[in-house]
Amino acid sequence: MIGVLGGTFNPIHYAHLRCAIEVKELFGLAQVRMIPNAQPPHRPSPIVPGMMRAQMLELAIANHPGLLCDRRELERPQPSFMVDTLVSLRGEFPAQPLLLFIGNDAFSQLKQWRRWQQLFDYAHIVVMTRPGWQIQATDDFFQARLTDDCHALRSNLAGKLFFQAVTPLDISATAIRNCIATQQDPSFLLPDAVIAYIRQHQLYQAPD
Ligand code: ATP
Repeated sequence: MIGVLGGTFNPIHYAHLRCAIEVKELFGLAQVRMIPNAQPPHRPSPIVPGMMRAQMLELAIANHPGLLCDRRELERPQPSFMVDTLVSLRGEFPAQPLLLFIGNDAFSQLKQWRRWQQLFDYAHIVVMTRPGWQIQATDDFFQARLTDDCHALRSNLAGKLFFQAVTPLDISATAIRNCIATQQDPSFLLPDAVIAYIRQHQLYQAPD
């Protein structure tokens, strides 16, 4: 099984990284492909170019084989739609279940994603939740796909909806950007190598 974790990663931080490691181990994944988006369709474009966000991601995962920086969304015409990314991954991995990991904040907006129902034709969706979080999958479309049996993820290539608790870490890239813009120290929110890169390139100096 292959894991997919898309995001703006503006910048990558410890909550992204902790989620990636935990789901890799929990689901016994061969790899987790972390995919920086070129131009997020549902939010203003990030100021930092995709190639720099990818470089920060690569610095963060340098010592973690099994976590990969996948640049396919940066290499194709914008904007980045996850359904196109999954089509491309399915072509590359025709016989492996794909697990698309999203935070519960992203899941609550899923119906705004381009061709969102077709995401399930190419991957399972695993929502990373806090322990005890109330499931918000009440409509028939989600109910028909919901499972709490992780074997169902392994025995089908796509099509299931699964909720997985992960260690809650209340870290966001927005808070990190604001921290840097106000000359505070972001240490312990993201890797030192990424902080050094941000300083070297003087990123996030202005408030959002
Ligand atoms: P921003 O603050 O700029 O919106 P972010 O910190 O939410 O950024 P993204 O790159 O937008 O980071 O997130 C990528 C994916 O990681 C999304 O699916 C998001 O839900 C998830 N994610 C981000 N932060 C956390 C967190 N603290 N815990 C669990 N999942 C998270």
